[in-house]
Amino acid sequence: PSHISYAQGSKVQSFQLFQQAKEWIPGGVTANIKHFSPHPIFMKCAKGSKLIDVDGQEYIDYLLCYGALITGHGHQAVTNAVKEQLDQTGTTVFGTPHELELTLAKKLVDLYPGIDMVRYTNSGLEATLLAIRLARAYTGKDKIGKFEGHYHGGFNHVLVSVNPELDDAGSKYEPIALQNRVAFQKHELKQTLVLPFNDLQSTKNLLRKYASELAAVIIEPVQGGFIRAEQEFIEGLREITEELNIVLIFDEVKTGFRVHLGGAQSVYGVKPDLTALGKVLGGGYPIGALGGSKEMMMLCAPTDESDVFSFGQSSRKKTDVVFHSGTYNGHPVVLAAGLATISLLEENGVMEVLFAKTNHLRTALEKLYTTYQIPMHTCGMGSIFNLIFSKNPIRNYRDLWGTNHDLRMKIDMELLHQGIYIKPGNRYSMSISHTQQDIDKTVEAHEKAIKKVLSS
Ligand code: PMP
Repeated sequence: PSHISYAQGSKVQSFQLFQQAKEWIPGGVTANIKHFSPHPIFMKCAKGSKLIDVDGQEYIDYLLCYGALITGHGHQAVTNAVKEQLDQTGTTVFGTPHELELTLAKKLVDLYPGIDMVRYTNSGLEATLLAIRLARAYTGKDKIGKFEGHYHGGFNHVLVSVNPELDDAGSKYEPIALQNRVAFQKHELKQTLVLPFNDLQSTKNLLRKYASELAAVIIEPVQGGFIRAEQEFIEGLREITEELNIVLIFDEVKTGFRVHLGGAQSVYGVKPDLTALGKVLGGGYPIGALGGSKEMMMLCAPTDESDVFSFGQSSRKKTDVVFHSGTYNGHPVVLAAGLATISLLEENGVMEVLFAKTNHLRTALEKLYTTYQIPMHTCGMGSIFNLIFSKNPIRNYRDLWGTNHDLRMKIDMELLHQGIYIKPGNRYSMSISHTQQDIDKTVEAHEKAIKKVLSS
């Protein structure tokens, strides 16, 4: 779009690096999320709540590596834990079991009501994928249900109806399953049932219709980190999945430690069968984890249990355990960073202060936009939120179609000039390193952005 551009000369180094990168790296980026128009900004260093780009501009960072950096960049306690881990063990990784694996596992069992046992992975994607594979093994069924607009990582089962367009998404009561990308085999699409978020009656109807084929339902309890499941909806989903012998998977990759130390399941008081974690858990290093009931987790190979598990129609023997591996699973340096992060969050009052800061910013922004008579409200939970350019409440992905996306993009572009880093259109995450001064500056930057956009 024509309105998307940087001020003349302001991002010269970034532009040049991007041009070079495109020669060696498809699209110049190593993940689709890093790309935006007119070109992504290359960073040079960071500290606390700040990022500094290769052209020397400083930003207050609200992207925080898609929420992973809840302590901010380079927190001393996390960095020290990593250095100590390297110094004390003399290595980066053992490739064998080690004590931190159980220290962190115990911590997750204490914090998450739905977790009795844990396996580690290297990303959130691998955790949700393992969850789905376990659910299939456990139930002997194939299909999975996912909600429209929910993201669970880039693999075919769940890369369905993540960003559907207005024109082809079908009825709101029974959304059409849409592949977002090529590289699907046609039959794969039939294995995923798309469900309408926050519509309990339609969801129940669909689950009853396909119950005999459905292994699992996977859900982001707070979609995108900002659209909350309604209490009745998520309680109802728990009841119906239990009744129909469908495994309920909470994808808490975004919400874990961000909406509550014990995730969204602790906020709602609803216990899933399996929980996928990632992001914050690694303290800024790559991680994922899957936790769940002992009965289900014991399907991860190897296990020396000789029980025969039975569930629904099927009966599974120990020989039916699920293959699970990964060269770097339970990486000691990553677990040390994760444990240090959780320790910081567990200190008295830390989460409360983080949430209060977030609410303070949300309220100040809402007040500001009201002054300029621009319909905008925030929605979110705990330390994550988004700005919604509409008067209407947002209950699901389709409600976002009715918001003023164009205005949002213009404001976000202007914010980049003002030194506020948010990938255009993305949600805001807060860290314990953000200060009152950051918040004040952010509100001021929004005011400048509004004035600029209104006058253009
Ligand atoms: N699930 C959710 C809810 C996520 O937000 C993400 C990452 N944005 C993932 C899964 C995938 O995690 P990763 O990028 O670590 O593979």
